[in-house]
Amino acid sequence: KPALSVRHLTKTYAHATSPVLNDVSFDVPKGKVFVVLGPSGSGKSTLLRAIAGLEPIQGGTIALHGDVIDEGKPGRLTGRSKRASALRTRIGMVFQSYDLFPNKTVLGNITLAPTLVLKRKSSDVRDEAMQLLERVHLADRANSWPHELSGGQRQRVAICRALIEHPEVLLLDEITAALDPEMVREVLDVVLELADNGQTMVLVTHEMRFAEAIADHVILLEDGSIVDSTDDPKEFFTH
Ligand code: ADP
Ligand code: ADP
Repeated sequence: KPALSVRHLTKTYAHATSPVLNDVSFDVPKGKVFVVLGPSGSGKSTLLRAIAGLEPIQGGTIALHGDVIDEGKPGRLTGRSKRASALRTRIGMVFQSYDLFPNKTVLGNITLAPTLVLKRKSSDVRDEAMQLLERVHLADRANSWPHELSGGQRQRVAICRALIEHPEVLLLDEITAALDPEMVREVLDVVLELADNGQTMVLVTHEMRFAEAIADHVILLEDGSIVDSTDDPKEFFTH
């Protein structure tokens, strides 16, 4: 069973006349990196948000390792997926705008959900958070506040906050798009290391050389439909 399976996904925003995602289907095998490309407005963000349970879908199914976690209902135009809370622990997502909690330290940002929501033992969570911070070279900033960090550092903290929930699939939505060029590399290096360690990921990025280097599979979205799909990203990027 694929780690993530999206079947005939259809989504229409409330009050919109046409679907923003139209019969989108793909599978992401465990440990693979899936890159979603497409022009602005083609539906890339919406696709990731729908997979994360942040957008209701009107048709199709989303499954993790064969477990259906969301099923489209034709009339459902607003509101959050009922499965969203179950989804949260199995899918991690990092956004363009690294929205850390401003009134929590770096460590506090990472440990908040596992201790408060998942009720894990706080000393274990703390130890794991420190290991994650070491992995992204930020152990020395554990007690800093978000406003004291660069954008690249904040985004690496946001990645740790997602990873501590051990997501089966990690969704990354243009996580370097808001960063100054000199900080892009340090974030992409973390993503490359995750890929080497077998983290299943779906990512939207405008960093084409990076996409070519990391992708196991590429899909191209246009107007909410998949218009190209390949297991040979090298070939894809040369024409
Ligand atoms: P991007 O193209 O980088 O994904 P956008 O500028 O299209 O970003 O969207 C930014 C935010 O505004 C997103 O949260 C998106 O959901 C929201 N948004 C975009 N278009 C609309 C719209 N027509 N109506 C309401 N919200 C929108
Ligand atoms: P991309 O990430 O490829 O730029 P988006 O998924 O952000 O595309 O947006 C796809 C389309 O959906 C755009 O036309 C955008 O304006 C529209 N859209 C995005 N968010 C909303 C929203 N919250 N409400 C209504 N329309 C939206």
